This record gives sequence, structure tokens and C-alpha cells, in this order.
Amino acid sequence: MAGWTNWASTETAHPQEIVTPRATQQIVDQVEHARAHGRKVKMVGSGHSFTGISAPVDVMVMPHAHTGILSVDRDAMTVTALAGTQLHVLNSELERMGLSLYNMGDIAEQTIAGAVSTGTHGTGGTASSISAQVAGFTIVTGHGEVVSASPTASPEIFELGRVGLGALGILTEITFRVVPLFGLAAHERSATWGTLLATYDELTSTHDHVDVYWFPHTDQVMVKTNDRLPGIDGLRPLGRWKHWVQDELFANTVFGVLTDVGVRAPAAVPRINRLATSSLSERRYSDVAHKVFTSPRRVRFKEMEYAVPREGGLEVLEAVRRRIDRSSWQIGFPIEIRATPADDVTLSTSVGRESMYLAFHVPARADHAPYFAGVEEILRAAGGRPHWGKMHTMVADDLASVYPGFEDFLRLRDRLDPERLFTNPYLDRVLGI
Ligand SMILES: Cc1cc2nc3c(=O)[nH]c(=O)nc-3n(C[C@H](O)[C@H](O)[C@H](O)COP(=O)(O)OP(=O)(O)OC[C@H]3O[C@@H](n4cnc5c(N)ncnc54)[C@H](O)[C@@H]3O)c2cc1C
Repeated sequence: MAGWTNWASTETAHPQEIVTPRATQQIVDQVEHARAHGRKVKMVGSGHSFTGISAPVDVMVMPHAHTGILSVDRDAMTVTALAGTQLHVLNSELERMGLSLYNMGDIAEQTIAGAVSTGTHGTGGTASSISAQVAGFTIVTGHGEVVSASPTASPEIFELGRVGLGALGILTEITFRVVPLFGLAAHERSATWGTLLATYDELTSTHDHVDVYWFPHTDQVMVKTNDRLPGIDGLRPLGRWKHWVQDELFANTVFGVLTDVGVRAPAAVPRINRLATSSLSERRYSDVAHKVFTSPRRVRFKEMEYAVPREGGLEVLEAVRRRIDRSSWQIGFPIEIRATPADDVTLSTSVGRESMYLAFHVPARADHAPYFAGVEEILRAAGGRPHWGKMHTMVADDLASVYPGFEDFLRLRDRLDPERLFTNPYLDRVLGI
């Protein structure tokens, strides 16, 4: 039987059976069959989580045939799609209809169910995570029951299940709140570390979306601000050639080659980073929102990301830098810094508090352990919450201490999946058995 591997090749699995359902009833049949035969059943997304959160144990349910937009409600401004739809498909379809998600992360390869289930987020705005834009969903529980959840129907399942980790059941449909299609004006420039610290609060309060990359072993950061435009008139997208040279050739191809050099000759990494930052040039452009928010990532890497309280976040960043400067780690990937408002989604990394996200990467073939462990200590001490789909070492007891609604979530899991049909080793670790 063919195996399963995630995007970063950090996780593999060898399920006994692979099924590709088209209809909700076929998913119900799989759940009932699994229950009758004492098997575990897991729907996977696009495999873009770095953790084993989607690793199937016995039966792997594939998303590819369960895709497409089901309905659009222009009065309520909501769109419902099948769970296996990839975000880039949703984005294109919404664009065609003059609509858009409010906010999104860096890429659009994920399935909507996969992105929602781990609390995938972007930066800034009044809502940052995709889960906070969910208006309702339909889920097949461990009893084989099909439940539609929204603020008015099965509200507890809605409240707790918007970041469900795949632990409560199999999502079949998701309804998102949408907004009229809008453009973003992007401004990318470099700055020094000192300027970043002095101006970060002002940056995040005067721009809609702020994404910053600090290049370890240098004093340089790249700042990207995206400001929302009222519509899509008069946009000035990057020309195809410029786009190819800057985003494909430099951000993917050349960066890929430099990453390989860094893996083979780690001592060269600081020089490579200095070279990379000296070639950063200022640019301004505007485009339809999803084309600015997301871009292709072809260089494979491993990632750890924590959300720490926004207040005190800059001090955490400074502590991380001091730790890196003191170490002998050679870090070729920039550290990504984002900020989000608080939300009300029980297991969202931003629940109940404004957050600063710090994300750490190493090439897929490199050893991440000393770097991630050294930095994680600081993030955990700061009350950090790890991204559910990115590498971390927390276990259920640790997570209970940083999520006020953790016990409520566990109780709902006991109710919807008492036989643990949907579990796997990662979920056993982070939720308990
Ligand atoms: C290059 C890259 C860039 C990234 N950028 C960002 C970013 O900007 N912001 C961010 O927050 N994250 C980011 N991520 C992380 C990524 O968004 C999450 O890990 C996301 O969950 C991956 O979605 P997926 O479709 O690949 O799902 P998978 O990783 O395959 O699955 C994730 C979870 O969803 C569950 N699931 C999938 N389908 C269903 C279903 N139908 N019902 C119930 N559960 C289901 C799985 O069982 C699993 O628990 C990035 C990852 C990569 C590799």
C-alpha cells in the first residue's frame, strides 16, 4: 500500500486503506465501517502541516474528490464550499464572483478544512485566522452523525470546533464570511533591527497588515506592509517579467540554491544572509488581495511558530535574538514576525489575546533540533502557544495551561468521538488519549 508523506517530509505513514469519497454519505460510510472494525480514520488535507497532525493510522480519506463551491449567499455575505477545496481554488472562484476572504496566510495550497482545523492565520486586520472567518460547518462525528454547526445551530460544536484539529470528526462543508473583492497596496522595504524595534508599534497601528522578516547574523529586516484598498480599480500589479525575476527566480530558485550551499557549508550562512539582505530592494505594487497575501513556496523547509502575547512580544523577540547571537547555530532562513488581533475561537493561537507570532525555519534537510529547542524554551516561558500544524514539543498538560477552553474542548471530543476513531499519535500527545 502506498505511503503518505507530508510536504516537508517530516512525517510519513502507511495506512492500510486509502479512500477518495465524493459525497458526504461516503464519508459517513467510512466512519461507520471504521467504527465497526475498530479502525482509525483520518481525512487529510494537502499535507502542509509540519507536525504529524494529519498522519493517518488505518484509513486515509483523501480530499481530492470532495471539492467545489456549493452556494453563495450575497445577502448574508457567506460562501459554502466542500471541505477538500484548496484555498487557491476558493480564492479564484471568489474573485470571479467579486468576493474575497477577509484575510489569509502566506500560501494557498492548503485545503479549506486543513487550514481551518489548525487555525491557519495571516497578519493584522480585524481577523487574522481563517478559522475566525468561519460562519458554520458540517461535520461527521464519531457516531456517524452529520451535524451542521453555526452560532445558532449546535452552537457549542461551532464554538469549539472552528479549530478542531481533525479530532472531533470529519468536516464535509465549511461556510465562510466573505467581503467584496478588494485590492491591497503592498510596500516592501528593508530596515535595520533598531528601526524595527523603535517603530513596530507604529507600523502595526498605521498599516492594515504587517509582515516582517529578520535575517539572523545581520542587523537587517525586510518589512512588508499591505494596506487595504476600497475595491480593485486602478491596481498596479507587478509585471509578469518582474514578478518572475523577483518572486520565482530570487525568492524560490536562487534562494533554493543558497539554501543548499548553506546546508553543505554552514559556516557560509552569515555571509549568504548579508548578501541576501544587501540585494533587498524597495518595491511597491498593488493587486487583488489574495495575490498579495499569498505566494508560492518552492524551497522545502521545516518550521516552528509560536504566538506570544502581543504585549511584551518585542522583548521576547529581543531575547530570541540574544539567544541566537550567543549560539553557534547557522540560520539561513529569516525569522517571520506577524501580529494579530485577539479572536474568540477556543483553540486558536490568538484566542482571547492580541498576539505576536514568531516563526523559525530551517531547510528540510537540516537538523532543526538545537535551534528550535533553544528558542522554544524562551517562547514557552513567555506563555507562547504553538501553531498546531508546526513543529513543537508541547504535550496536553502544557497546552491546558495556555488555553482557557482546553477542558471544554476535551469534553466535546469525548462526546463526539468517544471511541477515538479520529486520533493518531500527534493528537494523543497534544490532547491526551
Ligand atoms: C509552505 C507553507 C507555508 C505555510 N504558511 C502558513 C501561514 O502563513 N500561516 C499559518 O498559520 N500556517 C501556515 N502553514 C501551515 C498550514 O497552513 C497548516 O499546517 C494547515 O493545516 C495545512 O493545511 P492542509 O490542507 O495541508 O492540511 P493537513 O496538514 O493535511 O491537515 C491538517 C489538519 O486538518 C485535518 N483535516 C483535513 N481535512 C479535514 C476534514 N475534512 N475534516 C476534519 N479535519 C480535517 C487533518 O486531519 C489535520 O488534523 C504553512 C505551511 C507550509 C508548508
